[in-house]
Amino acid sequence: MKTILEIQKLDRQIRALKREVEKCQASVNFNQYKKNLQEGRARFEQLEAQANEIIKNFNTANNRYSKYRGNADIVRKRNIDGINLDNLSALIQDANDLVGDLSEENRRVEDMVRKSEEIVRKSAELSGKLTEAKKRSAVYKEQIEKKRQEVAPKIAEIEQQIKALEPKVEDKERYAKYKQMKEAGIFPVFVPLVDNFCGGCSVELPLNFIEKLKTAKMLPCEHCNRIIMFQK
Ligand SMILES: [Zn+2]
Repeated sequence: MKTILEIQKLDRQIRALKREVEKCQASVNFNQYKKNLQEGRARFEQLEAQANEIIKNFNTANNRYSKYRGNADIVRKRNIDGINLDNLSALIQDANDLVGDLSEENRRVEDMVRKSEEIVRKSAELSGKLTEAKKRSAVYKEQIEKKRQEVAPKIAEIEQQIKALEPKVEDKERYAKYKQMKEAGIFPVFVPLVDNFCGGCSVELPLNFIEKLKTAKMLPCEHCNRIIMFQK
């Protein structure tokens, strides 16, 4: 058991070194960059959807224009010479309606143009930001790699120490279980009893469990599955 605990100590050092890489500023920055990139992509999709909406509206407007053109032709082709007063006021009314419709349409198109310009501006801005972020991400990656190479020989050395200890492990079955739990991300595997609490997950243990533990010396925590060791 002593050897396994020594190995666990060494494994803890390896994990600390790996965490140094994961938590270094460049890693934090890189993760932030990835998040920004995702948000940027989502924003682009939004802009694209807005642009499609404008194109759709523009086509609708185009159809309406054709209708107005048709109406304008009708107004133009009326025979002004033979017209009576009633017809004249109807004609003026038609012409006024047409002018009203057209100025309304003009307002809509101007609105669309304004929105389109806004989309183009935002897209360009976003595109610039993403390009800049991409450049920086290459620098972060380099820094992370440098950090990784910095700790790699230390990790290799500790792994050698573990290899040297392994033949001395008496309880092979327990060691296999240790490795299995470690692989599953449960670490540390062996934890002390701290007062009446699990030294791994800090859950308070029932008194009958502690009584059993005093006899068995080692029992899995009912909450986190780590092996709690009873030491006097
Ligand atoms: Zn626990």
